[in-house]
Amino acid sequence: MIVLKNKSLKFTFQVSFLLLAVVAGVIVPGVSGKLSLNAFRAYWLQQRNANLENLGESLTALYDEEGHTWKRRRVMDILHPAPQWIGMKITLIDDRGREVFTLRPMQSNSDREMIQEHITIPLGHHRHAGTLEIEHRMPARFSNHSFVSYLTRYILIGSSIIIVLACGLGYYVAGRLSRPVIRAIERTKSISRGEYDSHETQNPSGIRELDALTRGVEDLGRSLATQEKLRQRLMTDIAHELRTPLTVAMSQIEAISDGILEPAPERLALCMNEMKRLGGLIANVEALSRLEGDASELRTVPVKMKDFLEPVLESFGPVFARSGISFAYELEDGIACEIDPGKFRHVIDNLLSNALRYTNPKGNVDVSLSRESNNAVIKVSDDGIGISEKDLPNIFERFYRADESRARVTGGSGVGLAIVKAAVEAHGGKITASSIKDKGSCFRIELPLYQSS
Ligand code: ADP
Repeated sequence: MIVLKNKSLKFTFQVSFLLLAVVAGVIVPGVSGKLSLNAFRAYWLQQRNANLENLGESLTALYDEEGHTWKRRRVMDILHPAPQWIGMKITLIDDRGREVFTLRPMQSNSDREMIQEHITIPLGHHRHAGTLEIEHRMPARFSNHSFVSYLTRYILIGSSIIIVLACGLGYYVAGRLSRPVIRAIERTKSISRGEYDSHETQNPSGIRELDALTRGVEDLGRSLATQEKLRQRLMTDIAHELRTPLTVAMSQIEAISDGILEPAPERLALCMNEMKRLGGLIANVEALSRLEGDASELRTVPVKMKDFLEPVLESFGPVFARSGISFAYELEDGIACEIDPGKFRHVIDNLLSNALRYTNPKGNVDVSLSRESNNAVIKVSDDGIGISEKDLPNIFERFYRADESRARVTGGSGVGLAIVKAAVEAHGGKITASSIKDKGSCFRIELPLYQSS
């Protein structure tokens, strides 16, 4: 058995094609040649025996016709023209054992491995007319019979063509298959070196799986590039988010300890607020990592979604009213899901807080609950500032905030939607967002319906 270890794809393909070529070009024609040779031999012998039988019949008829005597000339006329007698010595012996006529082979066979065969054909219908003695020297392998050498020659030509074609094809296919794989390997290496963006345009190979591999590697590079940008942004954002309350609180405390400011209760309250903001931020990050890490954190119970949502939404009514935003909801009855009410309330709170934050006064915010096949669908939509196409794919990333909302003093930290997404997914659901800049946004949650067993 051939063991190919640590060999290139191209080499492996070429060797495989070569082996295939040997099988197709040598072994298969060899075996089929041998089989046809045997079939030919059997056919030849069958023909010979039939001819000899006919010969016996003709001689017997001649014997009867000539009044039960052998006429040498006429015997010769019958025996001579048969070309297949080449290689046979044929002797006609009369009924008294005398030799009437002998036909010797015209051409001796040079094959050293000969099979000697003696065939005796009795002659005469009603009475014994003599015998036809045939001494047949037949080549053991038939290999130099003109038909066989003709066949062998064509098999050899065919085999050579197959081998040359298979090697050529192997070389071509190996090149075609290995090129995109080699390119993909080089690309993954460059990605692992941190070169995420490729400036080279790849020509499709025309092979579906290999083109998918090339595309997959490019997508991987692109998504790693995005992740890297987000990571850098995340670090800056975390630093910024943590620094702001710290700076405010520290400057107050410093001023008090330097005796510049009085330790008045409102100053201490300001410091306290900043500390609380810091604590809230850290709690959010903790909640997120818990949700992303382990769904078993959830304490789920079957809940009628309308009963669950109604009080939450009602509690937001006055808040929207104070901001001059019209707020409406439509909840379908009889929809139950298995949720952790505490965690899911956070989801709704977050979406509504965002809708409140990013919708201008006189705007509209709508919430709906409906059933779609096996899911409960909750939609929170607004006609607020919307999200640009560039930001939309990233809003569920941790600490991601669209430039628009960074510019606004909204008090957000960019963790809310990441928590929402992690919580919805921990519930076995999914959340998507659609938005048009300056027109509004819609957040859609799909939750599997509760199946009572
Ligand atoms: P933040 O605390 O900044 O609101 P989120 O994670 O909740 O953080 O949201 C991430 C970003 O998604 C926001 O900064 C904002 O740019 C955008 N966003 C979220 N909800 C809305 C909305 N309803 N309308 C417009 N933009 C939104």
